[in-house]
Amino acid sequence: MRGSLKLFTWFGIPVHLHWTFGFILLYAFYLGVFEGDGLLSIVWFVGLFASLFGCVLLHEYGHSLTARQYGVNTQDIILTPIGGIARLEKMPENPRQEFLVAIAGPLVNVVIVLLLWIVGKLFLEPELWELASWTVGQYFQPMIDFFGALFTGDLNAISAQFSGESLPPADTEEMTDIVNGFGLSNNSLFFYLPILIVINIMLVLFNLVPAFPMDGGRIFRALLAMRLGRPRATRVASIVGQAIAGIFVLYGLYSGQITLALIGFFVFTTARTENTMVQLDDLLQRYKAKDLIRRQYTRLLVTDWMQTPINLLREGLERHFLVFDLHDQLVGALDEADIITALKKRDLSAAIAEYAHEPVEIVHPEESLKYIYYTLQQRRHGIVAVADEDGLIGVIDQEGLRHFLRMV
Ligand SMILES: [Zn+2]
Repeated sequence: MRGSLKLFTWFGIPVHLHWTFGFILLYAFYLGVFEGDGLLSIVWFVGLFASLFGCVLLHEYGHSLTARQYGVNTQDIILTPIGGIARLEKMPENPRQEFLVAIAGPLVNVVIVLLLWIVGKLFLEPELWELASWTVGQYFQPMIDFFGALFTGDLNAISAQFSGESLPPADTEEMTDIVNGFGLSNNSLFFYLPILIVINIMLVLFNLVPAFPMDGGRIFRALLAMRLGRPRATRVASIVGQAIAGIFVLYGLYSGQITLALIGFFVFTTARTENTMVQLDDLLQRYKAKDLIRRQYTRLLVTDWMQTPINLLREGLERHFLVFDLHDQLVGALDEADIITALKKRDLSAAIAEYAHEPVEIVHPEESLKYIYYTLQQRRHGIVAVADEDGLIGVIDQEGLRHFLRMV
């Protein structure tokens, strides 16, 4: 992906770091240098952010590896400052499978919470762990503020978290005594484990918000789809998702939590697009190639000059053409884009063979429009040939598809 750094490939899935991630590192350095006490603090903050995004990454692997069970590959996983994205080829259309793929992410964070808890229980001194788990309870509210402060970049609030200013007043002294008793500083590992536990709990809670296409929204859609069918379920989930996303944006702007506003904006637009796609899929699935086949089409000869299609493009309605050899065999296609390339290069006397692409997709009249639509999209081709048992009977091109979709 453009503008991103490939970190590594794990389980056959490339992991990319979006360039905006550099800001997070700078931010961690900044906190370490100006809010903490030197090198140790920098290491501590960078370590905390690294762990946070490590948890996000494992969450995404939860989605990807579950999807793999259903034959769905993941193109890559991208880490951005507002979260991770596992780019699945597609979502399983079976609601039960979508449900499992969606819930697998948050479940990973639940498992991480349990593991961290066990690690603390086993490897920390009992008094220390008791103190740590007590802190999780005590800190839960402040941690929400901490997360909010991270979003807003409120440095005072963040440093207050670490200097103990935001501890519940009644417990401050007792807490400080115990912490001092262990000879711990504010940035010590003592705080690391509970903070990571809370971060993971927050990840679970945030992702389960039913704002389609966030995880909670996908779970919601899948549950609805079991009763309403996929198209209607998506419409409902998308409306609910856009409403919640709208609240994210408004509240984010109102409270200055820019990250939340960005997430809201992202959720809002993807909810719309996904709904449009699902409704389009549903429509395409109901029609076949024979419903919009164009039986009259111009046949180009592979040995002709490019001047011929350029004239056809100027004077006619056809934008894409099939190309035949001297034995009347279909050998390729010439798209509008190819012809325009030749025109721009003033390459009028070049043979069509130089610009035509092959092979041409040949579909049966009974083939669904959905297949044809996505074939044209994926290959960036403008035209497919339609042939039955007796041979070529016509073509379907992008323009024809577009007109057809506008009419139905
Ligand atoms: Zn997720």
